[in-house]
Amino acid sequence: IKKVAVLTSGGDSPGMNAAIRSVVRTCVFHGLECYGVYRGYQGMIEGDFEKMDARSVKGIINKGGTMLKSARSEEFRTKEGRQKAYDALRKAEIDAFVVIGGDGSFTGAMVFNQEFGFPVMGIPGTIDNDIFGTTHTLGYDTALNTVVEAIDKIRDTASSHNRLFFVEVMGRDVGHIALNVGVGAGAEEILIPEEDLGLDRLLESLRRSKQSGKSSSVVVVAEGDKIGKNVFELKDYVDEHMSEYEVRVSVLGHMQRGGSPSCFDRVLASRMGVKAVESLITGKSNYMVGLKNDVMDLTPFDQAVKGKSKINMELLRVSDIMTI
Ligand code: ATP
Repeated sequence: IKKVAVLTSGGDSPGMNAAIRSVVRTCVFHGLECYGVYRGYQGMIEGDFEKMDARSVKGIINKGGTMLKSARSEEFRTKEGRQKAYDALRKAEIDAFVVIGGDGSFTGAMVFNQEFGFPVMGIPGTIDNDIFGTTHTLGYDTALNTVVEAIDKIRDTASSHNRLFFVEVMGRDVGHIALNVGVGAGAEEILIPEEDLGLDRLLESLRRSKQSGKSSSVVVVAEGDKIGKNVFELKDYVDEHMSEYEVRVSVLGHMQRGGSPSCFDRVLASRMGVKAVESLITGKSNYMVGLKNDVMDLTPFDQAVKGKSKINMELLRVSDIMTI
C-alpha cells in the first residue's frame, strides 16, 4: 500500500484527534501518503479528502472532538453509496483506510471490505466502552474523569441541602461508565443495564443510608438501567415512597463526550494509530486494534461487532462494601 485514508465516524469521543495524529504520523514515518476524509463515510462518498502531512496534525493531541468532523451516512448503508465511496477512493489512488468509530462504523468497513476487497482497519472510538476486543475504547477514560468531576460538584450541593440526586450518565447497553464513576465518586447506589436492583431494594438502601447519618445521597443511573424507569420516573417514585429526602435529578448528557482527552486516552490513541497503520503495512485487513493486558491486539471486525463487552461485577461488590 502507498496511500492510506483516515476518517472518524459515528459519535465523537475525546482522543479521536490524537488517533488521527498518530495515523498520519505513522504513515509519514513509513513513507506512506495519508489523506484525511472529512465527515465520515458521507465525506468518503463525496470524495472530501485532504492530503495530510506530519504538520497538518500539530496542536490537536489535547483537543476533544474530531478535526475531521464526524457524520452518520445513510447512503453508505446502500450498495450504490458504497460503490461511490469506492470510486472516490480509487480516483484518489487511496488503497486502504483506517476508521475511528464504534461498532456501526466497523460494520460499514466490514461490508465494504467484503464487497471490494479493500484493506480496512478500525480504531474503537466511543466513550461507552461497549466494544468487544479491547479493555478500553478511546474516550472512555476521559469520560470517566469528566463524570466523576461533575458528580463531585453535584455532591457539594447535595450535602448542603440534604438532597438525594439521581444522576443519569451515558450507557444504553452497558454500565461501564455508571459502575466506575459510581465507585469513584462514592455513589450510594449504581443502576446499570446488566442488573436489576429492584425498586424495593433501592428504597431500602436509601433509607439505610439516611439512618446511618449521611446528609446526602447520589445514585448513578445508566441510561439503559434495568430497573425500567428513567431518572424522572425514579424521582417521582422515591418522592412518593420516602419523605426523608428532597429528591433532584441531573442528566449529564453530551458534556460527557467533550473535553481535552486524559493522558491515558492520548497514549492509547497514539498506540492504536501506530498499530493500525503497521498492521495494514504487513498486509492485515478487517481488524480492530485494541488493548489487552496492556498489549496492542487485533480482533477481527466480525467478532468485535458481535461480541459483548462485559462489565466487571467485582465493582458492584466493592460499591456495596464502600457504602456501608
Ligand atoms: P457510536 O457507537 O458512537 O454511535 P457507531 O460507529 O456505532 O458509533 P453508527 O451511527 O452506528 O455509529 O455508524 C456510523 C456509520 O457507519 C453509519 O452512519 C453508516 O454510514 C455506517 N454503517 C453502520 N452500519 C452499517 C451497515 N450495516 N452497513 C453499512 N454501513 C453501516
